[in-house]
Amino acid sequence: MASSSVFLASPILPSKPAQRRPLSLPSATSLPSSISAFPRSLRRPPPNSRPLTAVAAVSVEQQDSVKPAAQPSSPPPALPFRIGHGFDLHRLEPGLPLIIGGIDIPHDRGCEAHSDGDVLLHCVVDAILGALGLPDIGQIFPDSDPKWRGAASSVFVREAVKLMHEAGYELGNLDATLILQKPKLSPHKEAIRTNLCDLLGANPSVINLKAKTHEKVDSLGENRSIAAHTVVLLMRK
Ligand SMILES: [Zn+2]
Repeated sequence: MASSSVFLASPILPSKPAQRRPLSLPSATSLPSSISAFPRSLRRPPPNSRPLTAVAAVSVEQQDSVKPAAQPSSPPPALPFRIGHGFDLHRLEPGLPLIIGGIDIPHDRGCEAHSDGDVLLHCVVDAILGALGLPDIGQIFPDSDPKWRGAASSVFVREAVKLMHEAGYELGNLDATLILQKPKLSPHKEAIRTNLCDLLGANPSVINLKAKTHEKVDSLGENRSIAAHTVVLLMRK
């Protein structure tokens, strides 16, 4: 018997039913109507499930009958901090420029992409958008929109920074990790970091950049792709 069963055998009922607060998203979010904040299966208990308490069951029924859409009734909470994570990966192909953090890096191949394929700037944008609770870079800046097609990735960063300020936040700090087998990034790291600071309007002390290989395994380790992770912390202004 698993040790956790000892605890599950004697459930502790809460002294009063938990408040069911609707999830609210930032006003800048415009999700398609087909996307719901909660999957339907999470909003309604399975038919054969036993209600936890009579009060909780009534609460669910009331919410479904009186407020079926669970509309947000209050503005989103003004969190003092918001954290966001971004990830991106691009295929490397011969004959293309390799742009990382807005810097042209000499290499025998570059990123296949609609834009300039800047893997670092793309995941920085996704980290900021994620922290703001917004959809990803492909949804906010679709390449089907002529406005964004072929744009330098610095444009996306500036737009994400603008959205961040409009939401009332500023950058706390950013930590990014690039994963590539070749070329060595150490000669270019400071140029990339300086450019990133300019784009974000940030002090260099809060922008950190790391690079590592992929131990020669998989596409990343075989010089066939490049990836990046970014974590940002935003602070309320
Ligand atoms: Zn990308």
